[in-house]
Amino acid sequence: MTLWIGLTGGIGSGKSQAAKIFSDLGVPHIDADALNRNLTADNGIALPAIRRLFGDKVFHTQNSLNRAALRDLVFRRPQAKKELEEVLLPLILNEIKSAKTRYPNAAYGIIDVPLLIENPEFLAAVDRVLVIDVSEATQILRVQQRSGLNTEEIKRIINTQASRKTRLLYADDVLENEGTLSELTKKIQGLHRFYSGLTLNQYGVASPCRTICTV
Ligand code: ADP
Repeated sequence: MTLWIGLTGGIGSGKSQAAKIFSDLGVPHIDADALNRNLTADNGIALPAIRRLFGDKVFHTQNSLNRAALRDLVFRRPQAKKELEEVLLPLILNEIKSAKTRYPNAAYGIIDVPLLIENPEFLAAVDRVLVIDVSEATQILRVQQRSGLNTEEIKRIINTQASRKTRLLYADDVLENEGTLSELTKKIQGLHRFYSGLTLNQYGVASPCRTICTV
């Protein structure tokens, strides 16, 4: 039985970087954001439900979503955000379930879910939670370097996400990512050894212990 690790963290914490390092070690990686993008791509299977919810105004053509219009609608109306999530979450969960079946022999795999804590439905799809943790100052710096957003824009995104404290409450394992990329790689190699050695018991529980990962 494969152990599924939910990888999460705030914007700019290093989730994508960490997922890439796990992948380079040969660990199966399911990317919830990528699944979401496929569902809402041209002809994606979520499109009919989105059209039923919000109508033609969030579409370019019959089979092509106008992402900017949808983002704008969801930004202006919190209720619309909730309705969209109610449509998308079950579909993403279904995709995760089917993606898992592609790795019947893996000891463990990573499910990269940026908003794992914010959407508890996802918690049921994972066996352990790995939080990539950095300070807000580091988040801002790294997102600026990556995307050029300004500090205010980044803070606004951070404020829509679970707080650092809440996220850490859900963590089985915490990977502190304030150091260099080579330190991050070493920590992930350590976690890789740890996860490879864990097996699920008959209750689907890997281990009750919490791990703080240090180099
Ligand atoms: P997230 O997916 O959590 O939003 P990313 O993995 O994209 O974050 O990381 C944000 C930026 O910071 C990226 O440009 C990434 O390459 C960089 N980064 C991540 N971890 C480190 C690190 N330990 N040292 C230096 N840069 C890092």
